[in-house]
Amino acid sequence: MTNLQVGRLLSGTTAEGPGRRTAVWTQGCSIRCVGCINPHLFTKRGGQSVPVSAVVEAAIDSGDEGLTLLGGEPFDQSTAIAELCAIAQDAGLGVIAFSGYTHAELAGRADLSGVDLLVDGPYVRERPEGRRPLVGSENQRFVHLTDRYVGQLPWSNTVEVRVGPDGAINLAGFLRDADLERFSDGIGRRRLGRGRAS
Ligand code: SF4
Repeated sequence: MTNLQVGRLLSGTTAEGPGRRTAVWTQGCSIRCVGCINPHLFTKRGGQSVPVSAVVEAAIDSGDEGLTLLGGEPFDQSTAIAELCAIAQDAGLGVIAFSGYTHAELAGRADLSGVDLLVDGPYVRERPEGRRPLVGSENQRFVHLTDRYVGQLPWSNTVEVRVGPDGAINLAGFLRDADLERFSDGIGRRRLGRGRAS
């Protein structure tokens, strides 16, 4: 069984695409966009090595509709991602994948047969997105590879805040740096974990 290097895994979120999902932030990104919100995921070192079957089991156990793969850059681990998507597809789960590579770039180097919706392209700080949810810059596109999520995308961004028993605060959903700073100022010096990139 192939393992995936995972920076963070969050089941039962409604902030990372349509429906209730398991979000998987992969560890490692070779693209390294200027202004990326998740620079702690650039390095391949860190996170946890998780069997791809365990990721799917986490989603099934949580009763989620599907997986959202974020970065880091999922397709820097293209073999593990292809296997993960195939297992998810067999289990009836939908797959949304965010990538800093374009669809054309991935077409020659990655198996996308298990991906329903690809959100493609790097984050370009000079072209901030002001209208569409889920994406950070205007160049990023929603490429529907199946019709599973056609007409299903949310109309606005959602930010989810979870406070653990140890006081650690976990964020999911789309957050710009200014939003995060306002939130951080508002709660003082608690530990923050956050997601979304690409
Ligand atoms: S935005 Fe995505 S592709 Fe760009 S550096 Fe961050 S994780 Fe990598």
